Amino acid sequence: MTALGDLLVARIARTGPISLADYMADCLMHPELGYYATRDPFGTGGDFITAPEISQMFGELIGLALAQSWIDQGSPAPFSLAELGPGRGTLMADVLRATRAVPEFHTALTVHFVETSPTLRQAQVQAVPDAIWHDSVATLPDQPLFLIANEFFDALPIRQFVREGDAWREKMVGLTDDALSFGLSTAAPIALLEHRLADTAEGDLVEHCTALPAIMQTVGQIIDAHGGMALIIDYGDWQSLGDTLQALKAHDHVDPLATPGTSDLTAHVDFAAIAHNAAPAKFTRLTTQGVFLERLGITARAQTLAHGLSGTARDAHIKAHRRLTHPAEMGDLFKVIGIYPATAIPPPGLEP
Ligand code: SAH
Repeated sequence: MTALGDLLVARIARTGPISLADYMADCLMHPELGYYATRDPFGTGGDFITAPEISQMFGELIGLALAQSWIDQGSPAPFSLAELGPGRGTLMADVLRATRAVPEFHTALTVHFVETSPTLRQAQVQAVPDAIWHDSVATLPDQPLFLIANEFFDALPIRQFVREGDAWREKMVGLTDDALSFGLSTAAPIALLEHRLADTAEGDLVEHCTALPAIMQTVGQIIDAHGGMALIIDYGDWQSLGDTLQALKAHDHVDPLATPGTSDLTAHVDFAAIAHNAAPAKFTRLTTQGVFLERLGITARAQTLAHGLSGTARDAHIKAHRRLTHPAEMGDLFKVIGIYPATAIPPPGLEP
């Protein structure tokens, strides 16, 4: 058992079982022993690799989409160029480099990073020294907001509920023989799942991301009031159904209760919750990452970059293009949704 595991066992022995969301919050964000507090999990040596770390093309194309959308909305100035959970800062650095050809965009923008991990903030300072850091979206300025979030919402804690009649039993982390184990609370009606009674049956499991509603309400309100747009990219689907909690360690699936604080815990993203909480801002159709990147011109960009490469660098580049777009790799699993004002056209690559 890990040091964080010992703490959790002692806490549960003292005060009783905790929700899955509380367990995930400690595992990911405990200030000394949490997963993101203690390491930089990205890249081939880490536990997982994300799209901006696979190829510069990802951030470049998103940069062009952001700049195009900014021009489509009349080049508002000043504006916030914001990112939720920027990891190593790679995506934003690629966005800024790819948009250098639009100097007015650069003059008008200030970069805002919403990041809770002190370790990752240090990496982000190296990548984007001029950024302004926030603990939450609540302190983003009241001005046009062009925002990206890649693999952010999957990292937020979720609660899980199993349906019983018109009530729900919540998945809890408790103790069996002094070891962490899953159990279910007694059934109770849950107001925030009222709308799921229509599309679920006895015994179905649904997930609820606790921080998502407040984050998307704030983002949606700023975009509706001041203009801008948000691109949310993640794995998941329109509505959550079934257990999608997973723990990854060194690119392998592990038991989420086995070594608290040392594996990455994630869950699929419920894009219906993203879309509906952003009201009165509008949302685009949910689009696969593969289709989105093709529409933004990734094949042409890949060919241009390939000209300057040879040997293993060229092979790696071709592999990266495939990895981002092919349906058997990230192309279909990852989805994109755009949030935009009722008065504007949707962001490039996305349909109303
Ligand atoms: N977008 C990056 C990193 C994804 S990992 C990429 O694509 O590579 C998730 C990121 O979200 C990390 O930077 C993590 O520290 C951050 N994060 C997780 N929970 C957060 C929270 N509640 N508030 C702000 N940042 C959070």
